[in-house]
Amino acid sequence: METNGGSAPQAPLDDPLEPGARPHVRLEDLVRAGEPLTAKLARRTAPGVLYERGPEAGYLRCTACAHRCVLSPGRAGACGVRFEQDGELRVPFGYVARHYVRSVETNTIFHVRPGALSLTFGMFGCDLRCPYCQNWKVSQALREPGSDGEPIDISAADLVEVAVQAGCEVLASAYNEPMITAEWARAVFTEARRRGLVTALISDGNTTPEALEYMRPVADVFRVDLKGWSADQYRTLGGRVEPVLAAIGEARRLGYWVEVVTLVVPGFNDKPDGLRALGAEIARVDPDIPWHLNAFYPRYKMRDLATTDPAFLVDVAGVAYARGMKYVYVSNVADRVRELSHTRCPACYEVVVRRFNYETQEVLLSGGACPSCGTRVPGLWGPSAA
Ligand code: SF4
Repeated sequence: METNGGSAPQAPLDDPLEPGARPHVRLEDLVRAGEPLTAKLARRTAPGVLYERGPEAGYLRCTACAHRCVLSPGRAGACGVRFEQDGELRVPFGYVARHYVRSVETNTIFHVRPGALSLTFGMFGCDLRCPYCQNWKVSQALREPGSDGEPIDISAADLVEVAVQAGCEVLASAYNEPMITAEWARAVFTEARRRGLVTALISDGNTTPEALEYMRPVADVFRVDLKGWSADQYRTLGGRVEPVLAAIGEARRLGYWVEVVTLVVPGFNDKPDGLRALGAEIARVDPDIPWHLNAFYPRYKMRDLATTDPAFLVDVAGVAYARGMKYVYVSNVADRVRELSHTRCPACYEVVVRRFNYETQEVLLSGGACPSCGTRVPGLWGPSAA
C-alpha cells in the first residue's frame, strides 16, 4: 500500500525518546499544517486505557509502550497516534490500514496451527523507526514525506467476520506495532476469541508489563522481534534492548505462546558473538521458545546493503542448538536452506512439521507429540496435530 499525504511531521517524531521524556509534537499543529493522515487518524479514536495520570496536573503518561511518553495537553506521543485531549487519552480505534488473509506462517509463527489461514491486520504508526522496515509505508506513514495512508473503517465484529468467512483459524495484529493500538487490538481479539480464533500480537517487543497484562486475557501469541543486543543498535531504531528482553520474559510468565524473530542485517547485527548472546538470552527465559533467524533483503533506507549469507545463518543456528535451544529456524532463504524450515523432535530429531520456507507441507504430530518417540513438542498446534 502506497501512502501519501502532505507534509510529514517534523524532526521530533524521529527523535528517540528517553524513558519518561516529553514528546514535542502538538497534534493540532500537525492538523493545521495540512497533515491529512494525522487528521484522518485523529477522528478515528476512542478513550484509551493504558495510561496513568501525572507526573503533573493535566499531564498523562502513556503505558502502552516502553517509551512511556508524558503527554501534555493536546500533544501526541512519539508514535504520533496516541494523544491527550480534554484530559483523556485518545487512542486509535475502528479502522485498519491493511489486512490480508495468508498462511499463519507468513507471520513467522511456526508452532501455532501450522498450515492454517490467518487474517493479519495492521494500523498506522510505530514506536520505533527501523531503517529496514518491511512495512514502512504504514508503520512510518506519519514520518515519511509524501505518505498518504487511507484508513479503512471497520468494526471489530466485521473484521473478525471477514476472517471467519475466509476460513481463518488465526487473527493477528502486525505490520506496525500492535501495542500502540492495544485498545483496538483488544476489542478485535475479544471478538475473535468469541468466534473461536487464535489471536496473535506481532510485536517489536518495546512494550510494558501493563500492556502485556492488559492484552493477555484475549491474546494467545506474542511473536516478538529481537533486533539486536546493544544500546547502539537499538538507539538506531529508536528504542532500547532492555524492555524487549524483559517483555519476552514477562510474556512467557503470563502464559503467552512466544516466538522470537531476529532479522540478521549485514553490517548492523551480524556479529557472531552478539547473536550468540541473543540466543542465550532467549534460552535463559525458556529453551522451548522458537528462534527464527531471518535473512535480510535490501529495502527502505537500507537498499545498499547485501543480503544475508545463508551459510552464516546456518552457523548461528548450529551454535544455538549446541547451546540448548530446541527450535531454531532459518527463513527467507528457502532455496538454499530447506532443512532449517522444519520442526524436529528435540529428542529423536524426526521431522514433525515439514515446511518449505513459510509453507507447511505436512503435520506429523500426534496429540502434539512426536509420532516416533512420543516427546511432546510445545505449541498451539490445534486439531490438525491432534
Ligand atoms: S504508545 Fe505512543 S504515546 Fe504511548 S508510550 Fe509508546 S510512543 Fe508514547
